[in-house]
Amino acid sequence: MSEFDLISRYFATKFPQRPDVDLSIGDDAAICTIPPNMQLVTAIDTLVADVHFPLLTTKPEDVGYKALAVNLSDMAAMGATPVWMTLALTCPEFNEIWLQRFSDGLLELAQLNQVSLIGGDTTRGPLTITIQITGLVPLNTALKRNGAKPGDSIYVTGTLGDAGLGLQVAKQQIILSESVKKYTLSRLNRPTPRLQIGQKLLKIATSAIDISDGLVADLGHILNASNVGASLQIDNLPLSDELLESVPYETAIKLALSAGDDYELCFTIPKSEILPVNSCTYIGKIEANLGLRCLTKTGNIFIPKTSGYQHF
Ligand code: ADP
Ligand code: MG
Repeated sequence: MSEFDLISRYFATKFPQRPDVDLSIGDDAAICTIPPNMQLVTAIDTLVADVHFPLLTTKPEDVGYKALAVNLSDMAAMGATPVWMTLALTCPEFNEIWLQRFSDGLLELAQLNQVSLIGGDTTRGPLTITIQITGLVPLNTALKRNGAKPGDSIYVTGTLGDAGLGLQVAKQQIILSESVKKYTLSRLNRPTPRLQIGQKLLKIATSAIDISDGLVADLGHILNASNVGASLQIDNLPLSDELLESVPYETAIKLALSAGDDYELCFTIPKSEILPVNSCTYIGKIEANLGLRCLTKTGNIFIPKTSGYQHF
């Protein structure tokens, strides 16, 4: 099979077709029409085998799903609606079964969100998947990291730390019941991009970020960009029953604070605003005093280490 056959079989026809795509896969570049009074929001994220996922134990479907999910999560953090993506795929060999399963996983999430695949690049080398996503947002409404103000409330979506536990499961570092294993692996491999929540926060949230490197590191980015500090109520952190029943409470908190891959949103809203969404948890407040302070129920204060995963 030629490279062109490969592209047309696995990537060209099955993906959602959108009326705003004027020219899709098959030419030198794609052409799309941007609706009036909207801005383009663009992000790109790469998954490298054995850096971002264990190659041997991750299903190809999950690799495809996650490659898009992490990009959609960036759209969610901006409050944008994803519309178009391009895919740069580098793989060591032409493996029909792998490609079929990978594209099935990618397609599943693309269909859920009506995202078109409008182009890409296919090369040989160590397995690496890069997706560039483009979304739309009404003019000058996108959520950014730099607007948090002293007094704002800090919220997170979903539960934290599950993906961190899932990574231990994937690496066979911990033995858990089948049902907990399944839950944490799906949280690791199939994160839920909080797109609807992000969109509902437009004009309400003063800042937002998606949690890819752990709450402490990512909230730290909001604090730096906004030039503010914060106090977190550690005992308010949303933890799943599955996490709580698998590890001691202290370990669960540690995972919630610093494990990566949750892809939940962390955002701030003024105290006077009413939260426009469900399934979010109040975890603390923004303060003028720089730095991040973690408070426990018993009144202890500790300052967490702030570095997330660093590639270099
Ligand atoms: P070029 O020679 O211009 O670089 P390519 O041979 O790389 O073009 O690609 C031909 C067409 O197929 C282009 O429209 C490109 O966007 C698309 N394409 C290539 N690889 C992929 C892929 N992995 N997924 C989606 N589209 C792809
Ligand atoms: Mg060309």
